[in-house]
Amino acid sequence: MINKYRYKMLSWVTLLAVVMTIFAPLAVSHAAGVGDVLDAMTSPTAPTTSGGGILNTLFSFIFDKLLGPILNIFGGSSSTGGSPPVKLPPSSGGGPVLDSGVLRGKVIVVDPGHGGDNPGATAGNKRESDNNLAVGLKLRDKLRQAGATVVMTRDTDRNVAPVGSTLGQELQARVDIAEKNHADMFVSVHTNSNPNPSIVGAMTFYPSSKSSKLALEVQSALIRETGAVDKGTETATYYVLRNTTMPSILVEMGFISNAAEAEKMQRDDYRNRVAQGIFTGIGKYFQTK
Ligand SMILES: [Zn+2]
Repeated sequence: MINKYRYKMLSWVTLLAVVMTIFAPLAVSHAAGVGDVLDAMTSPTAPTTSGGGILNTLFSFIFDKLLGPILNIFGGSSSTGGSPPVKLPPSSGGGPVLDSGVLRGKVIVVDPGHGGDNPGATAGNKRESDNNLAVGLKLRDKLRQAGATVVMTRDTDRNVAPVGSTLGQELQARVDIAEKNHADMFVSVHTNSNPNPSIVGAMTFYPSSKSSKLALEVQSALIRETGAVDKGTETATYYVLRNTTMPSILVEMGFISNAAEAEKMQRDDYRNRVAQGIFTGIGKYFQTK
């Protein structure tokens, strides 16, 4: 969002807040993620979600793209309209060797985005929710091996909140898991999408300064491990980030809208590299914080 548009944005938000109040009770069948709704609105090939419709789309759009960021006092941005990503500092030349002891006893919530009746971003038969789950499970295993206590928001292809819940309830269910377990960290795993199929790369979102170091460590390790294009770290006010009280990040591992990157993310070895990168970054965060 560019500065000069912010006043205009405020008026819009007031109007949209009213609209949202009216439409909020409507059940939405999917928890739309980063860019999904915009993509659904702009891409003629985007699948429609079951039980969807224009009101759901509108609600999701307002919720994810406009109201969420604004309610957080302009703290946020999105992958489609944000400020330029923060570029990572040069690698410190290998950095400290990760001592797995630093993860012992840590409670880490791993949140594979979407699932159940909400596949997230799709491309042909490739689904974001499958990528997210596969990487999430690998991340879980690595963290557990290092002595962490891992709680998954979902470990199968399902919704987290009861079927028929609203978007807000679905996302709150994920936040609740982190809060009730007094987690030391919340890590949400997603796959990006963009109407421009040439865009590639991995990026990490974080809610505020409390998580910027975590985001930098994870992004840095993720890029080193995967060789993906570095799209940097960026603040964002996505629901699960702004409503969790512990350090939290949302990793967008790559773009399903790019054929080559989508193909890579289908591969088990690449998913393992993504998980390894996130794992290493988490370890470095705890080691040096
Ligand atoms: Zn997503």
